[in-house]
Amino acid sequence: MPVRIPSIFETRRHQAFPVLEPAEIERMRRFGTVRSYDAGEALARVGERGLGLTIILSGKVDITLHDQSGQVVPIVAYGPGSFMGELAQLRGRPYLVDAHANVAVQALIIPPDRLRALLIAEAELGERIMRALILRRMGLLETGAGGPIIIGRADNGDVLRLAGFLRRNSHPHQRLDPEIDLEAKELIERFHVDPGQLPIVLCPNGQLLRNPGEIELARCIGLVGPIDPDRVYDVAVVGAGPAGLAAAVYAGSEGLSALVLDCRSFGGQAGASARIENYLGFPTGITGMALMARAYNQAQKFGVEMAIPDEVISLAADGDPNNGRFVLKLSNNERASARALVIASGARYRRLAVENLEAFEGASVHYWASPLEAKLCAGQEVALVGAGNSAGQATVYLASQVAKVWLIVRGADLAASMSRYLVDRIAGLPNVEVLTQTSVTGLEGGNGVLEAIRWRRRGSPEEVHRPIRHLFLFIGAEPNTDWLSGSGVALDSKGFVLTGSDTRQERRPLETSRPGVFAIGDVRSGSVKRVAAAVGEGAQVVATLHAVLAAARGETADIVTAPGREVPG
Ligand SMILES: Cc1cc2nc3c(=O)[nH]c(=O)nc-3n(C[C@H](O)[C@H](O)[C@H](O)COP(=O)(O)OP(=O)(O)OC[C@H]3O[C@@H](n4cnc5c(N)ncnc54)[C@H](O)[C@@H]3O)c2cc1C
Repeated sequence: MPVRIPSIFETRRHQAFPVLEPAEIERMRRFGTVRSYDAGEALARVGERGLGLTIILSGKVDITLHDQSGQVVPIVAYGPGSFMGELAQLRGRPYLVDAHANVAVQALIIPPDRLRALLIAEAELGERIMRALILRRMGLLETGAGGPIIIGRADNGDVLRLAGFLRRNSHPHQRLDPEIDLEAKELIERFHVDPGQLPIVLCPNGQLLRNPGEIELARCIGLVGPIDPDRVYDVAVVGAGPAGLAAAVYAGSEGLSALVLDCRSFGGQAGASARIENYLGFPTGITGMALMARAYNQAQKFGVEMAIPDEVISLAADGDPNNGRFVLKLSNNERASARALVIASGARYRRLAVENLEAFEGASVHYWASPLEAKLCAGQEVALVGAGNSAGQATVYLASQVAKVWLIVRGADLAASMSRYLVDRIAGLPNVEVLTQTSVTGLEGGNGVLEAIRWRRRGSPEEVHRPIRHLFLFIGAEPNTDWLSGSGVALDSKGFVLTGSDTRQERRPLETSRPGVFAIGDVRSGSVKRVAAAVGEGAQVVATLHAVLAAARGETADIVTAPGREVPG
């Protein structure tokens, strides 16, 4: 009999649904306003914009959601001292659950900006509330409840693309396969959808999208909203990987107004890491997504605005040098302005030079090895190309999920490019076969589905042909700097951003050839390509930003980094 894994709502119920003391509620009153609701009245409806944190002062509120077949499922009932909300309420994003007054209710409503102020002003209480908001989101993620429903075949490339996008943004969602799920068939008939138009996405606000792009989907579910074109932020950060998120956390916590833009999701490359074992303070390792989700929530707690997904396509070259602002143009024709700019756009995976690769990307060729991909390959043989640490981590993870991993390496020795601990671990895995001095020579299949892979060992006339349906590529990265073309920011010969003395101009550390524009993390020429290095540079750049912003205001920076030492300007 299969073992039922208890949900977070069951194992950590006391932390997910705490009851506040009357004295604590008294202290919270200054952050909100009291509202009354009649019995039966809705306090929240899935898909509607959230009002903030709702603390029940009297009465009872029923929290429910709809399951895949549209049935109402009770989650929890809140009485006096309980509070209603989850992570979406930090920024007033749409509700993921329904809430109705069971009897007449009085509630204290704390709007998102005041909630963030409360979390900072009330450290211990803030920690308990923040933990509850995170656990509630995790509970919703476990069930997928409250989010959009993707309907399409489980192995369809667009289904994987949309599910991957929502998973990387920690947004609950459900998937229904019309070949397996009765509800999917019913929904397809109800909405008169031709099977050729799949996948479709049903959004919580009732809208139906046909094979949408990520930005269209994000807008529909309220993940991202329009940017105020008149607002000038202290700093705009391009990229929400470890470098960008670190800059955001330090900027937000030190009182700067910050906007972070990312074209994909938070976490960057680190979000793709199955297990980061060399990040300080995590002796048993941590998944990249878990580490990055913490940083993302932390930045939002400090009031940083997130525009994800939003792609920056250019940085205006000139503008009025006296108005002291940088203008970013986005792919959706919006603009964002800031007094200082941090480039943290990192690097993107390199693609294999083999014919037909594009045809198989999505369903059969993968650049991530997450549980989503692992489920697709369960019990099968897979091939993985790469010899760096990211390839090593993915191999170790996949070996625990699949029948066999063929690790294809161009060089003569794994140890030349991979950390010793990973080389040793791979050597101990019975279902991994390492093929050195070998290259993929061909891909075979049809309709986007791979059926076989061919490879050849250097100097060997024989080409191996193996029936493998999934190919993983971890072959390094190139800088994401196309958007800087024409901006006046100087790059090195490989396209990485030059900073400091490398610009051959008088610049602060991490400052690019354009004063007031900084570069941190993997995108920076000469940077150490590690999470810790990216995070360190994110912290360092904020200290310099204070000096730049103060200079722009004609002041001197007064942020103190250590007793008696001022931030270098
Ligand atoms: C699978 C894998 C495993 C790894 N494991 C480890 C490990 O165990 N330990 C370790 O120390 N390091 C590891 N690394 C390396 C580490 O992840 C990187 O060094 C780190 O993520 C770099 O951070 P970053 O913020 O500079 O850039 P990135 O992580 O690359 O983030 C850049 C972000 O910018 C966004 N972006 C790019 N262009 C634009 C644009 N025009 N507009 C808006 N947004 C844009 C991207 O979408 C991305 O989210 C691993 C990398 C991979 C791929």
